[in-house]
Amino acid sequence: MEQLDVLIIGAGFAGLRALYRLRGLGKRVVVLEASDGIGGVWYHNAYPGARCDVESFDYSYSFSPELEQEWRWSERYATQPEILRYINHVADRFELRKDILLNTRMSKATYDEEAARWIITAEDGRQWSTHYFVMCVGQLSTTKRPNYPGQSTFGGEIIHSGEWPKHKVDFVGKRVAIIGTGSSGMQMTPVIAKQASHLTVFQRTANFSIPAANAPVTDEEDATVKANYRARREQAWNSPTGLGFKPNRQSALDVTPEEREKVYEAAWNRWGFGFALAYYDILLSKPANDTAAEFIRRKIGALIDDPVTREKLVPQGHPFAARRPSVDSGYFQTFNRNNVELADLKEYPILEFTPKGIRTAEKLHEFDIIIFATGFDAFTGSLLKPAIVGRDGVTLKDKWGAGPITQLGVGVAGFPNMLIVVGPGSPSLLSNVMVSIEEQIDWLADLIKTMEEGGLAEFEALPEAERAWVEHVNERARETLYLTTNSYYNGAEVAGKPRVFMPYSGGVRSYRRFLQQCAAEGYSGFALRAAPAAKTRKASA
Ligand code: NAP
Repeated sequence: MEQLDVLIIGAGFAGLRALYRLRGLGKRVVVLEASDGIGGVWYHNAYPGARCDVESFDYSYSFSPELEQEWRWSERYATQPEILRYINHVADRFELRKDILLNTRMSKATYDEEAARWIITAEDGRQWSTHYFVMCVGQLSTTKRPNYPGQSTFGGEIIHSGEWPKHKVDFVGKRVAIIGTGSSGMQMTPVIAKQASHLTVFQRTANFSIPAANAPVTDEEDATVKANYRARREQAWNSPTGLGFKPNRQSALDVTPEEREKVYEAAWNRWGFGFALAYYDILLSKPANDTAAEFIRRKIGALIDDPVTREKLVPQGHPFAARRPSVDSGYFQTFNRNNVELADLKEYPILEFTPKGIRTAEKLHEFDIIIFATGFDAFTGSLLKPAIVGRDGVTLKDKWGAGPITQLGVGVAGFPNMLIVVGPGSPSLLSNVMVSIEEQIDWLADLIKTMEEGGLAEFEALPEAERAWVEHVNERARETLYLTTNSYYNGAEVAGKPRVFMPYSGGVRSYRRFLQQCAAEGYSGFALRAAPAAKTRKASA
């Protein structure tokens, strides 16, 4: 069995960054990647129209000034192929591929308490022994597929947005269905509508969306950002969500309606996802949120010609941004096309799939291609898929039966020497995830360095620290509007999933302070041990 210092699971943005950083400590590091390519979600979500909704300059690694200077983003919001090219460039430039094993899916990880090492087993039976085990499996990587009666009888092609096929999907002249109107459904709708003979979008919940205002990056913009990149990064690191601009510190309720209108108009035309930062209390106060939601509803409504379709597409019933809003490029306007139809699943639910298409309570819709843009088992799906067996044979699934419990989102009591990157209990999906990834990986690299320098065997989150952190995560969530609606932030996206608030909503800056404080206090909330606890217990028995 190969002996490793660190084994990382997943070769997406987080896994590659962890490999680069930990290899820099002189450690023997290997990455296992289940797919036949690197890039994680950016490898799999290759649907038409897929692009990032964080600006390219911010959705990129900050660890190498040379990389920052030499990479040239072509658009304000990069497309999926461009992001994948960037990821591959990083892998080549930093010679990462030699330590990545593709087509290698971890099926089991078992902690050997006596040795303070993890035994990792792949689906094909190969095994590795490693001191540290780092999960970089992503928060939106386990797809969620509906299972309608008759689904297997459908005669055309069924595709999930998050498992887009490698072959070219030709929509020309085809009758296409998209089920789901989250970011994925909203991004692909305008692109597919231009190719398909007919497109039906099945909507269960109308979602808020802000226009991307995407544009090519000019040479001048590129030069300006590159000349001031450190300042832009500092801004992102110190912002609530890791975006590269300053949030407004005013309350939406402390200004006149005219002034608010001006601010919202500017945010609508430029800020995309950052609209939620137009005033500091948009996600904290319902009356403040109402002012933003009312503005956005008005703007969306003005984009849609048909009054019945407008009524259905304008989001109602949840605060703006309490569910993840989208950033779109012509989504609502697409419904003004003659070949596009909105099917309201609240009015006419799907009864079954047939060989020809989808039968709703209203009629039979005939299709050649059906796309599930139905999202993911968020946050915990990929962490709980393999059998992770910690101390005393307890599995992570057992431990998290009532919802994820972590110390600072990175460590779990009973699972020593295991680290989780951008998992539940960290800002994760409430942040520019690139900022969170780099923050956590630098922190965990320092932890591992401390362990190595001290000749230590085992670190482990303390149960009382975990309890306090989970309580703090909940306390911060209770200050917000996130808990006022169902969403994947609180486990509502999968039937039977524990209904707890998953990410840390206190912002990336505040989260970083917790990480820094923990390290400064000698990793408070963790036990750092010279010998495995199991051995010490035995010796003293
Ligand atoms: P999502 O936001 O979870 O949306 C899933 C959609 O499918 C929702 O409209 C949901 O309706 C609907 N749905 C789920 N199950 C259904 C069923 N059985 N029948 C009918 N409708 C069903 O998933 P997503 O659009 O893939 O996006 C997930 C996340 O990925 C985003 O929030 C974002 O964080 C990330 N993402 C980012 C980008 C980017 O630009 N960076 C692009 C795409 C995705 P309900 O709302 O009623 O549940």
